[in-house]
Amino acid sequence: MIVKKLPLGPIGANTYILGDETSKKAILIDCTGDCLEIKKALDNDNLNLVAIFLTHGHFDHVLGVNDIKKIYPDVKVYINKEDEVLCQNIAVQCAHFGINSCDVPKIDEYIDENSKFDISGFDIKAISTPGHSKGSLCYLINGELFSGDTLFYTEIGRCDLFGGSFSEIEKSIRGKLFVLDDKTIVHPGHGQDTSIAYEIKHNAYFGENSRY
Ligand SMILES: [Zn+2]
Repeated sequence: MIVKKLPLGPIGANTYILGDETSKKAILIDCTGDCLEIKKALDNDNLNLVAIFLTHGHFDHVLGVNDIKKIYPDVKVYINKEDEVLCQNIAVQCAHFGINSCDVPKIDEYIDENSKFDISGFDIKAISTPGHSKGSLCYLINGELFSGDTLFYTEIGRCDLFGGSFSEIEKSIRGKLFVLDDKTIVHPGHGQDTSIAYEIKHNAYFGENSRY
């Protein structure tokens, strides 16, 4: 599987391009900004974009959705129903962060952790991980984890925004992520990659030496 990381948008949130070498199909994890840059990266590898899996409804992760759908009208956009309210209120979110207003992203299908996907070359499992937002989803795809704003390198997502909860994110990370194969690579929504093993040891909140 090809995995490309593009930090885009006003606060450099990561868009991930995942490509299958055989089927030449591609999916995005989040769509965080400049869609021409995303298109260029897809074209470089001759990939056809078929779907966008959103980790949650914060503006910096969904900003590019409507623009990319203008280039790829058939692409399907997925998000957890629990974060619909965040998408609907995207203008409020943008104002809060001093960003010029953005449009409500067009969602094609609401999903949860029981949803099944059939995209050749990709074995996709959505994992419900509330805490950063109510509808936060992590995606385990071909054995690699895309953790959105739930788990970062040595850090966790903030819990003080609308729908956030520290006790929920603790349950999500300890109960749903730290139980995965510890060799699992983790691709977060901001910053550098990590692994489950590394976070079990070194995470500032829930690692072995943390104070929580
Ligand atoms: Zn977020």
